[in-house]
Parts: sequence; structure tokens; C-alpha cells
Amino acid sequence: MEKYSADQDQLLKTFRNACHVFVFTGAGVSRESGLPTFRDLDGEWRQYDPMTFATMEGFLQNPAMVWNMYRSRQKQIAEAQPNPAHITLARMEEHYPEFLLATQNVDDLHERAGSRRMVKIHGDVGQIRCIDCGEIYDAREFELPDEFDENTLPKCPDCSALCRPNIVWFGEYVPQEPLMAAVNAACTCDLMLIIGTSGEVSNGYGLAEYALGHGAKIVEVNPSEGALTHYAHFWVPEPAGIALPRIWEMC
Ligand SMILES: [Zn+2]
Repeated sequence: MEKYSADQDQLLKTFRNACHVFVFTGAGVSRESGLPTFRDLDGEWRQYDPMTFATMEGFLQNPAMVWNMYRSRQKQIAEAQPNPAHITLARMEEHYPEFLLATQNVDDLHERAGSRRMVKIHGDVGQIRCIDCGEIYDAREFELPDEFDENTLPKCPDCSALCRPNIVWFGEYVPQEPLMAAVNAACTCDLMLIIGTSGEVSNGYGLAEYALGHGAKIVEVNPSEGALTHYAHFWVPEPAGIALPRIWEMC
């Protein structure tokens, strides 16, 4: 592994020579926009037990309480703005012929920055899903109250069952379709970017190993060392909102 400062030319060459780029982003990118993640349990979230608001069991015990927490989360996200890392990734997408961004983040900051060729592997806080038939809806199709009670919980228009936030909770599998898209991109890319994630989710290791197996270069942008850093050919130990625009400017 080469430190960024040690060989900037090689790093820039890696970006310039790439045709097929796969980007894997995580909580760090959202955090730079002021959004703590569910798993960070920062601030107001710390008072809640994740087993209550991030498991199916907790949801079924008190759906109104869980929905109220997600409503406040949706409002936080609506007030947050994409940062220079989100914006630079959207510009990269326009440049490279083959490109996929797979994010673990459940907010919509990548989309609002302009990313289109992307998948969300941990769900989307802007979507709701029927717990019975599994149908997924855009939350904006529902008139969700600011404060839920037992009578105002969102119900499936198709089957009338209770709906839940479309987020991967603890103990749940990630959805197959976005995961397979990420695996395919990792298996065929020539540059994998790991941005703002420690990679400590099970699929993080697999994605990095698929990319290495295909002969891709791996660049990690992360202020602190994570579980995937040892896979990286280049590690840029800085916040993505600072490092990515500077690197892309020089490319
Ligand atoms: Zn349904």
C-alpha cells in the first residue's frame, strides 16, 4: 500500500487510466453533511436501543414509536445538503463510460448531488415497504403525519397490511438486486473507490476481494484506517469532501 503523499502521480494515473469505476460509500460521506447514521447512534439516537428501532421485533412491538423516529430522521435528511464528496462522485459518473456507485447510506444525498448509476444496499429512508406483500412505495406517495399514533400508521394500498421503513435492519439480509449489481461491478471494474466506510459489513470484504481478483486498483478515502484499508493500493487519510474534489481537479 502506498500512502497518497508518497506517490500522487501514480494515484492520479490510476484515475486517468480507469474506464470502469466502482464506488462503495458509507456513513462517513453522510456524516460530512451533518448526518449521523443509525449505526453511529450519535446525538438524539443514542437514547434509543437499536434493538428497538432497528429490528423487526422492535417495530412490531411499537410501530408508532419507530415510525416517529424515522419521520424525524427523514426531516433531518431533507434539511441536509450534499457535500463536495457527493458532488465530485456525480461528476465522475459523467466522465467514466462504466460506473456504479453502491452506497450503504439510506439518505438521498447522492441522488440530490446528481448520481444516477447507483444502488442502495441498505435500503432507502425515503421508501416504505409492506411487511406482508413486500411492495415498496415512495414515501412521498403517502400523506404521512408528523406524529404517528396507532390509527395513522401507513398501510399498504394493495393489501392493507402495515408498512415499515424500507431499511435493512439488524439481523436482516441486504436486498439481492442491488447487492448483485454491486458484485457485478466489483468483479469487472478496473478502479474501486472505498469512500467513508470502514467496510466492516460482511459484503465489504467480498466486494474488495472481487475487485482485486479482477486486477482492479483500490483507492480508499477515509480519515481513519478501516477493515478494508489493507486491500487498498492507495489510502488517502482525509475526509472525502476535501480529498475527492482536490484529486479530481488534478485529474
Ligand atoms: Zn401489501
